[in-house]
Amino acid sequence: MLNLHRYDVSKVETCPRATQDVKTNLANREKAIKDAAYGPLNPKEPNDEFWKKKADRWDVSTAEAKKSRCGNCAAFIQTKEMLSCIKEGLEVGDTEQNAWDTIQAGDLGYCEAFDFKCAASRTCDAWISGGPVVSKASAPTKVKVGSMVSWNSSGGSAQGKVEHVMREGVLGVPKSSFSIRATKEDPAVLIRIYRDGKETETLVGHKASTLRVLKS
Ligand code: SF4
Repeated sequence: MLNLHRYDVSKVETCPRATQDVKTNLANREKAIKDAAYGPLNPKEPNDEFWKKKADRWDVSTAEAKKSRCGNCAAFIQTKEMLSCIKEGLEVGDTEQNAWDTIQAGDLGYCEAFDFKCAASRTCDAWISGGPVVSKASAPTKVKVGSMVSWNSSGGSAQGKVEHVMREGVLGVPKSSFSIRATKEDPAVLIRIYRDGKETETLVGHKASTLRVLKS
């Protein structure tokens, strides 16, 4: 299971260590590259092979795969509090640097899944729909065990039945390297995917705020 910082995005009182410590950030970034093929190295290049692999993995077209980026991932935190943390860290590393320019140029945010600063134009195998997180966590939703829910996915929209709702701690998604931070304000939800009205073997995790309740 990934080591998630257990902070509340609505109350970032202390900044995640990776935003302040270059070595920690680099180590966690390496882990994202190794475990979840974070990339591409230079998003401005075509990176055909990279996107083909992602498309195959997600069973979508290359064009669809290219729409699933850190910038719209539910693990991508760009609250003003978090951006301030990133800015402070950049200033500590290089006082001459215009930190805000660096943040804007890279469209940086914080990946809470792998605990590092990532760029909106990249992606990884653990991408999850519903991001970015740009403001305080939403109010508790009506999601409960047994609810049928839907959410935006790289291929359009997906549906499933809620099997578990966690309101505190970290939810590990079975057979995946992904885990989700749970809070009372925005629980982590384990969902069994349904296709054509039939349940599948696949379990996924989402934050409650990214789900639409179809039937309770
Ligand atoms: S989990 Fe999301 S935010 Fe983190 S690296 Fe992967 S795609 Fe980017």
